[in-house]
Amino acid sequence: TVQNRLIEVEKLSAIGMLVSGIAHELNNPLTSIIGYTDLLYGKASDDRDRKKLEKIASEAQRAVRIVKNLSTFARESKADKSLIDINDLLRQVLKFKGRDFVLSNIRIVEKFSPGSMHAMANPAQMEQVFLNIINNAEHALKLIHGEKVITLETVSKDDWIEVRVKDNGPGISEEHLKKIFFPFFTTKDVGRGTGLGLSICYGIVDEHRGKIYAESESGRGATFVVKLPARRESARDAKLEMGSERIESGVLSGKKILIVDDEQAVQELVSEFLSIHGIIVEEASNGVDALDKVKADDYDLIIADIKMPVLSGISLYNIVREQYPALMSRFIFITGDSVNEETNQFIHQSGRPFLLKPFSSDDLYRVVYSFFFRTQP
Ligand code: ADP
Repeated sequence: TVQNRLIEVEKLSAIGMLVSGIAHELNNPLTSIIGYTDLLYGKASDDRDRKKLEKIASEAQRAVRIVKNLSTFARESKADKSLIDINDLLRQVLKFKGRDFVLSNIRIVEKFSPGSMHAMANPAQMEQVFLNIINNAEHALKLIHGEKVITLETVSKDDWIEVRVKDNGPGISEEHLKKIFFPFFTTKDVGRGTGLGLSICYGIVDEHRGKIYAESESGRGATFVVKLPARRESARDAKLEMGSERIESGVLSGKKILIVDDEQAVQELVSEFLSIHGIIVEEASNGVDALDKVKADDYDLIIADIKMPVLSGISLYNIVREQYPALMSRFIFITGDSVNEETNQFIHQSGRPFLLKPFSSDDLYRVVYSFFFRTQP
């Protein structure tokens, strides 16, 4: 049944998300363990010390393999995507919920954008996302008296498809608003809520390269917004298939990029990969270093890690906003921490593109390419 299928998808995405979260968190410390062990090994004069260091190195490598396997597993659990009409999908979800709405005395207002709203998405996962948001709205409306309304609105904006689900329930306090996408955050009674619904929605939408967030003023209802990259021409599918050949075409040749990351391994990796495409890459290891470079030179793009000693990516961006506002739109952020509240808020507020660690060379290229051409390669 549809219900069973939804439960199945929910389980899979929860595991996938958990696993990729763990992989993210372990990647940075492992890079350091291996790097520093290597450094010490070079200096060790005592054979017994060397043996111990070898042991640390081989154990760390074992952990790297485990993380790799976990990540592969998480990737494999990602479902296939196809070109779907989001308006159609929402109509299906509403049909599925029809009886519940009658029972709960909820009126549905549809404000669908005319025409089709195409996105590359996994239909079962997207159903899951909207069903979850709507179920939450339904639950919230149980807490109020008087007229109960859920409004579904779809809009097509620039390169995005936007779905807004609004209810006139009690709304979400500012304090809770920061936490609702965290795993296990719930205000529902034991046995009613798991606190996993929205974190799974977040995982699914993120995997679709989309955005999800909520807006609310206490007492004035809540609006959940899901944005997905729009798909207008299906010709782009063919381009995606071609992958690496296209990547060699050197369309980014001559662009000047500054990579700011305190992890040298990441710096070097980004440099190495981008220079293959003829991109000129310069490195900075913290925000202060980056500011000096930005003062002295003109960069087409600045890729900055968020968490750095001395001056973080966030502080760097804030200083640039004051002193060189023209450069604000040239930032892309990287982060190894997809669960951090401050980081997530900053990324949402700044609206800048971002990359999650560990990223593949393909992910990096895609983000850089779409920065310059405002479209996916
Ligand atoms: P659960 O539904 O199991 O609690 P979710 O992750 O789906 O888990 O939701 C987390 C919390 O977000 C809910 O417990 C509730 O406090 C809040 N929430 C979600 N949607 C709404 C809404 N439409 N109105 C008010 N609060 C909401």
